[in-house]
Amino acid sequence: MQSIIHQLTRNKRVLLTTHTHPDGDAIGSLLALGLSLERMGKTIAMVDDDPIPAIYRFLPKVDRITRRVPSGVDFDIAVVLDCGSLQRVGAVARAVALMPVVVNIDHHVTNEAFGDFRLVDADACATAEIIYRLIREMSVPIDKIVATAIYTGIFTDTGSFRFSNTNLEAFTICQEMVALGVDPYQVAKHVYGTYSLGRIKLLNMALDSIELTANGKMTIMTLSLEMFRETRTQPEDGDGLINYARRIEDVRVAALIQELNGNSPGQYHVSLRSDGSVDVARIAQARGGGGHASAAGFSVTAPLADVKADLLRLAEQL
Ligand code: AMP
Ligand code: MN
Ligand code: MN
Repeated sequence: MQSIIHQLTRNKRVLLTTHTHPDGDAIGSLLALGLSLERMGKTIAMVDDDPIPAIYRFLPKVDRITRRVPSGVDFDIAVVLDCGSLQRVGAVARAVALMPVVVNIDHHVTNEAFGDFRLVDADACATAEIIYRLIREMSVPIDKIVATAIYTGIFTDTGSFRFSNTNLEAFTICQEMVALGVDPYQVAKHVYGTYSLGRIKLLNMALDSIELTANGKMTIMTLSLEMFRETRTQPEDGDGLINYARRIEDVRVAALIQELNGNSPGQYHVSLRSDGSVDVARIAQARGGGGHASAAGFSVTAPLADVKADLLRLAEQL
C-alpha cells in the first residue's frame, strides 16, 4: 500500500479503469478512488468500456465515467480495479498496456498478479473495502459522494450482507459510511427496488429455463439473445438472476449460460455460483476465467449443446 501511495503521490495524471459489464463494486471503487485522487489535486479520468447499468446511474458523479480514454492527456499511471486479469478491462487494456506505471487493486482469488504494483486481498469483501483503506491511509476526507460509492460497492458485492464474503469490515465500513450521510434505503431502492417490466418478463423466462441435473446437485439457467430481444432488455438485466437457481434446495452449484451479442454467434458467458462446498473459481479458471470460491465466471465460444455437456460432466464430478 505504501508503494502505491508513493506512486499516486508523485504522479499527476491518473487513468482509472475497471472490468467490462461493471457491477456495483467496480463502479463504486472507480468513483471512490477517482474522486479522492481528484480531491488531492490530480488530473483523473475514470473509464469503463461498457455503459453504466441503469440501477447504478443514481450514484453521484457517475456521469464522470466515460467509455473512452480521453485523448490529448498523457497519463502517468493507470489504476485497474476489481479485475483478476488485465483482459477484463476490455478495449481499455491497450491504453493501460502503454502506461509507464500500472497498479492492480483487487480481491479475486484468481488474480494473475499483473501490473507493477499490486494490492490484492482475497479476504476483502469487495475492492471497495481495499479502496476505503487506501483513502484512509492517504488521509483524504470522505464526503457523502465517496461514502455512497464505497457503501454501494460493499452492499452489492456482499449481496446485501448475505454472501460468504460478508465480513466484519463490511459492517464497520458501511456503518461509518452511513454516519457520513449515506442513506441505506435510497441505495437499496435504486439497486434492488425497481425492476422494469421487461426485466420481470426476462426473470419469468429465466426461471422457466432452469434445468436440474439428474443428481440434483446442479442447476443450469439459460438466457438467449432472443429472450433479451423479446423482453427489450439489456445484458445487465441478467445480473443476479442466477441467485434464484442457486437457492434451490440441495443444489451445490448453479450455472447461468448467457448468450453474448458478440461479433460471431455462439459466444456465451457462463456464471457459476456455489453453496460454499465447491470452489467454482478453480472450475472457471480451468476454462480461462476466474473469480471467487463461491462466485466465478468464464466466457466461451462453442455450440450451446457443448457448453451444457461440459457443465453436465461437472455435475457428475460433484
Ligand atoms: P459473473 O458470473 O460475471 O457475475 O462473475 C462472477 C465473478 O467471477 C466476478 O467476481 C467476476 O469478476 C468473475 N469473473 C466473471 N467472468 C470472468 C472472466 N471471464 N475472467 C475472470 N473472472 C471472471
Ligand atoms: Mn466486479
Ligand atoms: Mn468485486
